[in-house]
Amino acid sequence: MAIDDSTSFFFSPWPDRLRHSAIILLTAGLSLALLVIFGELPPLLAVAAFACIAAAALVPWRLHDASASREDVRGVNPVESAAVAAVVDGMPDPAVLLDRAGRVIHLNAAAAQLAPALRKNELAQFALRSPEIITALREAIATTEVRRATYLDHVPVDRWMELVIIPVPVPTLFGGADKCMLMTFHDLTPLRRVEEMRADFVANASHELRTPLAALSGFIDTLQGPARDDPKARDRFLGIMHIQATRMARLIDDLLSLSRVELSAHVRPDTLVDIVPIIRQVADGLEPLARERQAEIEIDLPDMSVWIAGDREELLRVFENLVENALKYGASGGKVIVSLTLATSGEGQPEVRVMVRDFGPGIAPEHLPRLTERFYRVDVGDSRAQGGTGLGLSLVKHIVNRHRGRLLIESALKNGATFTACFPQARLPSST
Ligand code: ADP
Repeated sequence: MAIDDSTSFFFSPWPDRLRHSAIILLTAGLSLALLVIFGELPPLLAVAAFACIAAAALVPWRLHDASASREDVRGVNPVESAAVAAVVDGMPDPAVLLDRAGRVIHLNAAAAQLAPALRKNELAQFALRSPEIITALREAIATTEVRRATYLDHVPVDRWMELVIIPVPVPTLFGGADKCMLMTFHDLTPLRRVEEMRADFVANASHELRTPLAALSGFIDTLQGPARDDPKARDRFLGIMHIQATRMARLIDDLLSLSRVELSAHVRPDTLVDIVPIIRQVADGLEPLARERQAEIEIDLPDMSVWIAGDREELLRVFENLVENALKYGASGGKVIVSLTLATSGEGQPEVRVMVRDFGPGIAPEHLPRLTERFYRVDVGDSRAQGGTGLGLSLVKHIVNRHRGRLLIESALKNGATFTACFPQARLPSST
């Protein structure tokens, strides 16, 4: 509901206009009074002349220069107007200041980028596409109350936006206030993405837990019914139930570890740990799995201590996951190499690089960017058969990030895979 600006001027506060015309009225009144006193003008004529002058001063004739700025027309203090413009310009989100008719007084660069059709001194209603914005704007104009709207913008990419229109009184030159509106836009897309990810995560986790749970309750039914008196079947089913229960326990373990690491993601570990014995411990611990998979773990570690600021338990999880994956998915290559090198990062900082290389079937390039997503597997059946949860690499990435490091994944089909965890090297403690 657009209110024309001429009406807004007409209804501008009377004290404003009185103050504006006061000097004219005073001068006219004095001059006419003197003329009457000195007998130069009959009192009736003087009253008529004063009435004409007062009408001319108080009635809002639109005799202003067409090129005069809107601020002049609205009697806005130019210093305050510049301050208001600077505030709108400085707002990080797209912001538009509107007069109470919905005409654009000022807009910042972000708003111009979001809605290129918006122009100063033109009605915003005509420049905005979304019906939600137009409705909110009309309601804000009609009620002069705060209005909010959420809408999906499709151009140039899908973005969830929240629009807030707040009435703001902008002071005028004559001590009054012009009721303007500040329209700001907030990009809700990142929040929505996080919400979607959380919903996906809960759905995936429930699905992963439901599968072994369904298998367990199926076998319990069979053991209570048809297989009640079949000791051979009972042993076999109990064996499968054990595997399913272990899988559930592992999944819950991984989920808990992931949430713990996420909770402390912003807190960088500050304890200095020697990373060499940690890698050695992991390699030793996975020897039985290597033997089972008929593969060999080759370790290439320096003979000295290598210190990083880290959490020992989390680092154990990182190398366990990487070496275990290499043995689970790459054992056909017969060998897994775990090596540690000292290098310099892109920013010129000393870096510790732990590389886990296998010579198995490798990973097709299209999967590489998604490998660290929760529950992402190249081959779901293969992963489940290996007792995998699909959370291992996600956990690795979160732990490495918490240590302010990076995880590099290189692979080519039939050429094995190399996972490299890079950590900033800590300065040697003075005692060593
Ligand atoms: P999972 O519990 O399934 O092993 P991860 O997050 O550890 O979950 O790994 C995700 C997927 O990445 C695995 O399912 C597997 O398909 C693939 N993958 C991981 N490491 C290797 C590797 N060394 N060689 C081939 N594929 C791998």
